[in-house]
Amino acid sequence: MIRTKIKTALSTAQPGETIKVSGWVRTRRDSKSGFSFVELNDGSCMTNLQIVIDQNVPDYEATIKDVNTGASISVTGKVNESPGKNQRIELHAESFVLYGTADPDTYPLQKKRHSFEFLREIAHLRPRTNTFGAITRVRNEAAAAIHRFFQTRGFVYIQTPIITTSDCEGAGEMFQVTTLNLERLAQVKTEIDFSQDFFGKPASLTVSGQLEAEIFATSIGECYTFGPTFRAENSNTSRHLAEFWMIEPEMPFYDLQDNMALAESFVRTVISDVLENCSEDMEFFNQRIDNTTLETLTNITSHEFIQISYTEAIEIVKSSGKKFDYPIEWGSDMQSEHERFLTEEYFKQPVIVYNYPRTIKPFYMRCNDDGKTVCAMDVLVPGVGEIIGGSQREERYDVLIDRMKEGGLNPDDYWWYTDLRKYGTVPHSGFGLGFERLIQLITSMTNIRDCIPFPRTPKNAEF
Ligand code: ATP
Ligand code: MG
Ligand code: MG
Ligand code: MG
Repeated sequence: MIRTKIKTALSTAQPGETIKVSGWVRTRRDSKSGFSFVELNDGSCMTNLQIVIDQNVPDYEATIKDVNTGASISVTGKVNESPGKNQRIELHAESFVLYGTADPDTYPLQKKRHSFEFLREIAHLRPRTNTFGAITRVRNEAAAAIHRFFQTRGFVYIQTPIITTSDCEGAGEMFQVTTLNLERLAQVKTEIDFSQDFFGKPASLTVSGQLEAEIFATSIGECYTFGPTFRAENSNTSRHLAEFWMIEPEMPFYDLQDNMALAESFVRTVISDVLENCSEDMEFFNQRIDNTTLETLTNITSHEFIQISYTEAIEIVKSSGKKFDYPIEWGSDMQSEHERFLTEEYFKQPVIVYNYPRTIKPFYMRCNDDGKTVCAMDVLVPGVGEIIGGSQREERYDVLIDRMKEGGLNPDDYWWYTDLRKYGTVPHSGFGLGFERLIQLITSMTNIRDCIPFPRTPKNAEF
């Protein structure tokens, strides 16, 4: 018999029906009168299915003592109406199979709340907890919603390279790729030029697929990437990872205003979809992690974002009278504390800041006529700060070349990129959303390490 997922059983199974369910035991309670209650979870939803196993079930006496928290079992039985208030049904076992035991003396996930720090040390088991089950399902739904959003608008999903030579952000935060193997290392430990070690040429892991995405935006039209991105930033904040996932749409014939409108609609639509399709998990985050989660998200989906220029933003922050760790002046990048002040205290909703100083933004952003700012925009949200960075791209060949030189780049290294301006150039725009930052916003998890299945941070790549 094929197993029924517990999510399906809880919503559709009818009393009298015979079904089989399989999963991992959350708890077992034995009554004195010869039967046991087992709470079973199979990952399909937050709620456990209650199972009654009595002494008439074959092997009950011999096996039930090993049906402990963490053990894996299959149960076939009859669906009954549940006498309890919290559940519609329960399952009365007719037979069960114990696949794998979990020794209560060593199984790390006993029935209690574990700290997120502890769970990070057992990242291979944490998806079996309520919180990580919920995060995993929400991540899945958000990813599906992102594809839906773009696909229904005619955007083409493209795959940009992970191994590349372009330092798109110009920040020197790239991981170098080498063909090093242990044998070579032993032989030539000191003689390898690691900066030229992709078979004798330089190569790095991508920090952004944007430049490559622009190739497709300027040929097939609106497109987007959704892939892993790497930044060798030795930062230990609660919102930076060395490996994270980025969604980067790129649109020809979009100006900055069109870009901001798309970004806003994108964030609001994805959040709405998750609220609608993951309601049980979202209730959980609201109850267990932060009781303002649902209110904040509903607010985001039902109000227009604020749009202010960088210059206005700096004025607001400076005249607030608030003490910040890093005082800010026009010309420097906003820190998370300033971004959070704007979204959490001042406006109490998402803010799009546009027209940043050109000196703090990469070469590819379109220069404004004032000579001081570029057509950049960041989407800032409560609880997280920046989740999106975007811009209208510099489509004028000569200006682009000047900007590259200004930023210390050799335009010859980017000949394929400058060709896009040489031949049939068009105004275009795009942005990058950090997927884990979005998950942080949706789940209210305070640490980004808890928003990705396998967090990679400095000194942490084991599993
Ligand atoms: P921040 O100012 O927070 O360091 P950034 O301005 O360096 O971010 P961008 O280069 O604009 O980041 O990248 C686009 C988006 O990718 C950001 O808005 C953010 O959502 C996400 N992002 C950037 N760096 C990281 C990181 N190290 N870990 C997780 N997400 C990141
Ligand atoms: Mg950064
Ligand atoms: Mg930034
Ligand atoms: Mg940015």
